[in-house]
Amino acid sequence: MTAELSYVHPSPESPWTTYLSQVDRVLPYLGELSRWADTLKRPKRALIVDIPIELDNGTIAHYEGYRVQHNLSRGPGKGGVRYHPDVTLEEVMALAAWMSIKNAAVNLPYGGAKGGIRVDPKLLSIKELERMTRRYTSEIGIIIGPQQDIPAPDVNTNPQIMAWMMDTYSMNTGATATGVVTGKPIHLGGSLGRVKATGRGVFVTGREAARRMGLELDGARVAVQGTGNVGGAAMELFAQAGAKIVAAQDHTGAIYNGHGLDLAALMPWIKEHGGVAGFPGGERLGNEEFWDTDCEIMIPAALEGQITADRARRLKAKLVLEGANGPTLPGADDILADRGVLVVPDVICNAGGVTVSYFEWVQDFSSFFWTEDEINLRLDKIMVGALKRIWEVADQHRITLRTATFAVACERILEARRERGLYP
Ligand code: GLU
Repeated sequence: MTAELSYVHPSPESPWTTYLSQVDRVLPYLGELSRWADTLKRPKRALIVDIPIELDNGTIAHYEGYRVQHNLSRGPGKGGVRYHPDVTLEEVMALAAWMSIKNAAVNLPYGGAKGGIRVDPKLLSIKELERMTRRYTSEIGIIIGPQQDIPAPDVNTNPQIMAWMMDTYSMNTGATATGVVTGKPIHLGGSLGRVKATGRGVFVTGREAARRMGLELDGARVAVQGTGNVGGAAMELFAQAGAKIVAAQDHTGAIYNGHGLDLAALMPWIKEHGGVAGFPGGERLGNEEFWDTDCEIMIPAALEGQITADRARRLKAKLVLEGANGPTLPGADDILADRGVLVVPDVICNAGGVTVSYFEWVQDFSSFFWTEDEINLRLDKIMVGALKRIWEVADQHRITLRTATFAVACERILEARRERGLYP
């Protein structure tokens, strides 16, 4: 018998609760391997660190940081680092677990990991941000490394932060180690195509899902929550394919334009003003009203827990593309399935980012860099192939794409677990 974890007490809305219920749904499809399934319900390792830094005004501030390695059966840990005031241990645990599933679903030779700092980075100066990042990297330095666990960007982290992490780790170990993080600037061993890769993956899986549903992208209406790295890149690719981005929402507000928002004007506006609020090329939309937008495709590309049961009942879209991690609560998932709304789940939909992270890591080891076309082509091929396999499993068992993705991924993880055996 396996006891409950004593160190977290997740609420019903907690991402960790969501993840556990997703695992429970896949158990009937795991056959003999279900004997090993408890391993999926507990992280292998969770590190909590204190990050003290001196602020510019001379006072000392302490931040809480985490790095969780959920499962390492298939290879080193891999997953981003998030800076957000709402970060908690159980959130990072869920995000790490979703990385295990995601990496196995696209068959990357990685386990799953994630990190985070409980901080609002917008309140820090650039020098404070650098000091916090360097101290965090030093603190988690005991468990990360090019062959152990490879961080990357996530919410509110970017190539500059990855450069500081790479430099700090390299200084501590005495040799430049480009392979310790991905999502780095290009001239420091970063990969072409990495910045837009997650959004590109959302587009590729969305294009495939639309094709299977008989939904024409040309003229399709799309609503996007989150206008950052993921939502922004996805919007541009959908617009290039002829879709109309009719609504966009971010932490500053929501806007609507039935003819399609002019992205050539909107993207620079977001860059300059930090979000969509006040954009003159659209009407202001209430944050709750956003979910009632008439559209064919809805892309939640911000944070967890956004599609609640109530919003799932109201959603007009036929296709939901989960650019964010964990945007749909389990109850809402059932409602969407009952209503015939197709959900391409996060663990395949947003796997483009980590796939190009993998390309970056491989390029760093071989010190041989690929062209952007080559990267985008390989990304497309891997995503299409992974989705095809998932779709077959979904059709075979008549299950949702989410449960099918978990079935494919959990089988790979637990098979590796079984083959490696228990140590000692
Ligand atoms: N943070 C991204 C994710 O959630 C990318 C992780 C990575 O590239 O390692 O998938």
